[in-house]
Amino acid sequence: MFDRKKITDLSHDRSTRNLIIFCIVVAVLFGVALVSGQLELAVENNTLKTADAEFQVHVLDVGQGDSILVVADGHAMLIDAGEESSGSTVVRYLQRQGIEKLDYAVATHPQSDHIGGFPAVLEAVKVGRIVEADYPAQMTPTGSIYKNFLAAVKQEGARFGVMTAGDTFSLGNAKVTVLAPEEDYAPEDLNNASLVLRVEYQETACILTGDMEEPEEQAILQSGAEISADLLKVGHHGSETSTSQAFLDAVDPQYAVISCGRENSYGHPAKGTLERIRAVAEKTYITANDGTVVYLFDADTGESRISVNGR
Ligand SMILES: [Zn+2]
Repeated sequence: MFDRKKITDLSHDRSTRNLIIFCIVVAVLFGVALVSGQLELAVENNTLKTADAEFQVHVLDVGQGDSILVVADGHAMLIDAGEESSGSTVVRYLQRQGIEKLDYAVATHPQSDHIGGFPAVLEAVKVGRIVEADYPAQMTPTGSIYKNFLAAVKQEGARFGVMTAGDTFSLGNAKVTVLAPEEDYAPEDLNNASLVLRVEYQETACILTGDMEEPEEQAILQSGAEISADLLKVGHHGSETSTSQAFLDAVDPQYAVISCGRENSYGHPAKGTLERIRAVAEKTYITANDGTVVYLFDADTGESRISVNGR
């Protein structure tokens, strides 16, 4: 017997099967979209943790001043320590990071917002070597901040001396090169006597500038030294007199970090400087707004990211 119902059933089955296939295709497409979306999200939310990053640069939030911690393969270097009032903040930060010893402590230049916190740091943490810039003797400060710094250096008993352009040293597997000032360089002022460092680790690098302004930037450009970097700690808290276009173009940073205080009386960072930086760097951070800014680099994967306030 001819069974129409069966045909009907068959046709019904076909449409059911088509519907199921359609649903499967939609579900698969949706799933693929979801997974690729999650992958994109995973790339954006790069999950590299501080503990897993062999190379780290921490630009600490010390208000109006500078303090930068560089860690390479467990070896630590502190560049500046903020104002005297920030000393305890820096010490607590080092302790939270589990830093019991600094291989190097670097005073970029002897002004209070850079060296004021060192006595507290030197009292709390062991330091291997303390380095400062080779500025002219007549520029040596006579105030109590510098006297306290020298007394703390003496008390610590660490090796203390100057470095000049071209000097290099190791920090774990990182290579640190002094870019400026040159020996016998006659700076206009202490800002332009800032000890400027380039720290290189595998394929990444950062430049730490102290309060360098345009004259010292010019000296570095004329030296022909390699100054490309992924991270630039912007000179002199983002002032108008620093971070000239020529210097910025030569460094060509992916990330720029400005260290300054909230509503500081100097108007740092200057609007024009910020515009220059933002036109070159992919991302610009300001400690006054972002808090402590950390650059992380994973030696095994080459992955890097910026972590702001522990995120
Ligand atoms: Zn300063």
